Amino acid sequence: MPTNFFCRLLGHTWIHRTEDPKVAWNAGKDMLQLHATPAGEIRFYLECHRCKDTKENPTSEEIKAINN
Ligand SMILES: [Zn+2]
Repeated sequence: MPTNFFCRLLGHTWIHRTEDPKVAWNAGKDMLQLHATPAGEIRFYLECHRCKDTKENPTSEEIKAINN
């Protein structure tokens, strides 16, 4: 069964998920200090509490629906 029964019946129960970017440490020009350089943007997505289905790039309406 591809989709959780309750998700089919009631719809997904989305929760917020964030993934911190991997931080790469690089020596600066002075070679004395280490500078943190984010390797990527923070990944922000929704995940279903029940079936772990994920939704990338949620719309503001979908986020609002969760907060209410
Ligand atoms: Zn679901």
